[in-house]
Amino acid sequence: MYGTKSKNIRIESITKLLIMLLLENGPVHGYEIIKHMKSRTGKKLSPSQVYPFLRQLEARGYISKTRSGTRQRTDYRLTASGRDFVSSLDSKFGEIIDVYMRSRLITCAHCGCEIYKGGETRTIKGKKLTFCCKSCANAYTYKGV
Ligand SMILES: [Zn+2]
Repeated sequence: MYGTKSKNIRIESITKLLIMLLLENGPVHGYEIIKHMKSRTGKKLSPSQVYPFLRQLEARGYISKTRSGTRQRTDYRLTASGRDFVSSLDSKFGEIIDVYMRSRLITCAHCGCEIYKGGETRTIKGKKLTFCCKSCANAYTYKGV
């Protein structure tokens, strides 16, 4: 792993990319990020996957924190340079972002990994299911459902 003190933020995971896209949609608080990721990708993030990244973004000046409401919850919003940063991601991850914006990510019905492109589609008991690869499709088909 690279140190978190490096000046540039590394977006080396889809999770981080999706968090950036979520921030682009408007202010969110940490719990919303976790909730959104769960419904969007089926992936349950732990706070330790979210908050250190948010702190890193804040240290870099990409997001700012505001407290709002009676519960004093913390909202995170993109700053102007944060928006520039997200735009720069767009050229790097354009295809993934496209897929994300067009529809939700598909999750392999067998192993649960995320599929961005392609995948193996089977119709099992009248239900169209998508798998990341042939062996997942076979494993699912023959596990005796
Ligand atoms: Zn799979």
